[in-house]
Amino acid sequence: MRLIMFGAPGVGKGTQAKLLSQKLNIPHVSTGDILRAAATSGSELGNKAKVVMDAGQLVSDDIMIALTKEVLASSKCTNGWILDGFPRTLPQAQALTKLLNEFKVKLDRVIDIEVNEEEIVRRLGMRLTCKKCGRIWNIQLDTLADTTECMDCGGPLFQREDDREETVRKRLKVYQQQTKPVKEYYKRLGILKEFDGDGDPEYINKEILTALQPT
Ligand code: AMP
Repeated sequence: MRLIMFGAPGVGKGTQAKLLSQKLNIPHVSTGDILRAAATSGSELGNKAKVVMDAGQLVSDDIMIALTKEVLASSKCTNGWILDGFPRTLPQAQALTKLLNEFKVKLDRVIDIEVNEEEIVRRLGMRLTCKKCGRIWNIQLDTLADTTECMDCGGPLFQREDDREETVRKRLKVYQQQTKPVKEYYKRLGILKEFDGDGDPEYINKEILTALQPT
């Protein structure tokens, strides 16, 4: 199965993609995670991407298309994938369509998750990430013994630079201007399905899995 997780930052695309990846046994490809790993490694691409990400802007289409092409062409993606964070612009969506034609495979579904903007700002303000294992914690929902240390691996917890309120508002503006048109693109192709992202992640996941059942 080939799926795209779509929606504004903070709607729960990553959480849903991880759950689907476990349940459907297909790889979760997060372009944000790939860029953050590159930034941590200190590579030239990573350093450049970090400046753009921390400012709440989008990394260039050329870089993102090349990077996604490389991952989707790799052996781990032969039998399917869940793309999370790509495409984020119309040129990226068009490039993906071309790539799928080249690979002679089809996109099954675009899962669009909707949450209102104030809730997104609130949610991202509660988010802490572990520097060591990458696990995301929520100060409100998870009972954390200590907000400085990951309860899974003991790594240090931090707030992503781009989760600060001012940057989140910038990211939401970028989403409205550059990413929202991608929703129309997939709507027209008839493969987009909308979900309400306000609620228990496991419940939302069940709804998505039900919608993915063959009819
Ligand atoms: P995410 O973890 O998906 O919220 O992505 C974090 C940041 O990585 C975004 O705010 C962008 O700066 C960058 N990024 C991730 N995916 C893309 C993409 N497809 N196009 C452009 N920038 C991206």
